Amino acid sequence: MGHLFRWRHVRPLLQLPLLIVSVVMILQGLFGPTLAPKNLATTLSWLHFRGVLVLVLLCAGNFFCLACPFMLVRQMARRFFKPRFTWPRMLRNKWISVALFVLILFTYELFDLWSSPWWTAWLIIAYFLTVLVVDGFFKHASFCKFVCPIGQFNFVASTLSPFEVKVREQDVCVKCHTKDCIRGRREPVSELVVIRGCELALFQPRKVGNMDCTFCLDCVHACPHDNIGILSRMPGDELLTDPLRSGIGYFSRRKDLAALAIVFTFGALLNAFGMVSPLYGVESWLGRMLHLSREAPVLGLIFTFFLILEPVVLLGLAAWWARKWSGNQRALLPLAVRYSYGLVPIGFGMWLAHYGFHFLTGLYTVIPVTQSVLASLGWPILGQPRWTLTGLPSNIVQVIETGFLILGFAGSLVVTHGLAEEDSPDRPLPAFVPWAAVGLVLWMASTWLVFQPMEMRAMLMSG
Ligand code: SF4
Ligand code: SF4
Repeated sequence: MGHLFRWRHVRPLLQLPLLIVSVVMILQGLFGPTLAPKNLATTLSWLHFRGVLVLVLLCAGNFFCLACPFMLVRQMARRFFKPRFTWPRMLRNKWISVALFVLILFTYELFDLWSSPWWTAWLIIAYFLTVLVVDGFFKHASFCKFVCPIGQFNFVASTLSPFEVKVREQDVCVKCHTKDCIRGRREPVSELVVIRGCELALFQPRKVGNMDCTFCLDCVHACPHDNIGILSRMPGDELLTDPLRSGIGYFSRRKDLAALAIVFTFGALLNAFGMVSPLYGVESWLGRMLHLSREAPVLGLIFTFFLILEPVVLLGLAAWWARKWSGNQRALLPLAVRYSYGLVPIGFGMWLAHYGFHFLTGLYTVIPVTQSVLASLGWPILGQPRWTLTGLPSNIVQVIETGFLILGFAGSLVVTHGLAEEDSPDRPLPAFVPWAAVGLVLWMASTWLVFQPMEMRAMLMSG
């Protein structure tokens, strides 16, 4: 694949098909069938895209950001409008994107986005417009680094990917005078940038792991020594240590990044909870207790419980226990921030189980929906829609889901144990056990969730 990825136009080549698919999805969402399982906007967004995304992140890396269609539109717009501002210093963190991540999870539940082609189409349109506005005003990749909730999801999940964009030989970088990977390759006299350097402020020789890397390959193309590649590594390796990272700093000092890791992990359980029957019991019980007849405030309470109260209690207790038992001198908050990254693998396991379920049980639904779109355009080259095509049986998919959860739990144990070993090389066990207990609670809750009866949406979407 080396020749392909070294080619300067590989990114647009991958982005163009996704842009075409996005346009088709918008048109289908606005003008196609209103029934979600028969519309490409809903089936592709909520069944196939999410499933493929997490599987590619697990097996390869952040290749969605590489092929991101929003960035192709941004590049085309930047030929006409050059951004003039730099992103405000006080906003150079993940707080906006964490809030948007939560907002998307919330609106998904409140408006049942999975069942509405119309709202799904408008969500895609809103995404394109936001990219154009943010990157129209602000230089570099401000949208990717500080705003995009999908990007943040990919950054966190890709910490567990087996591939990373990184330098081959550190010695070559030491002797390199131009540092084009970050500065961009320039014309010798005019100093005009002809190939961009990293827009996400990741300086290759000091870059650690996949966090904040969009796999855009600008650095690969800019490096004059062909010293950067997509190289294999141990998944999750970057979570085991806490070095100073270019463009990021120390993980253990980034409360915003820890909040992102927490929303990623606990949001995985919350999002899955939204599709099982017990949610409706909880909602109606809360509504009766508090005399609330509208769904938004009830859902707001459920979100507050899952994304604030539960993490505060679990991580607070674990930090208190670990501190008391292991004699770690860190205060509770820094300790919780440091170990929150250790929960990312179990969170990713839950996302894999959930999205994998929708993807695999609705695997073939794209065929009849595409047949139907072509037939409705008077071009039935694929024949009449075969609506009986669905996907894998759910008992097989449940085994796969269980496998993902075990993998995630094992990953969390490895990472938290690694961090405990770094903190207390002689006696890691007391520092490790409280975090292993949190991982166990999350794993048991996740396993309970995947064995719950599905609410109508899952049957509708996979049927
Ligand atoms: S990655 Fe390439 S451009 Fe960057 S410092 Fe190393 S050799 Fe120089
Ligand atoms: S230029 Fe930056 S974001 Fe793009 S692949 Fe290189 S390190 Fe990653």
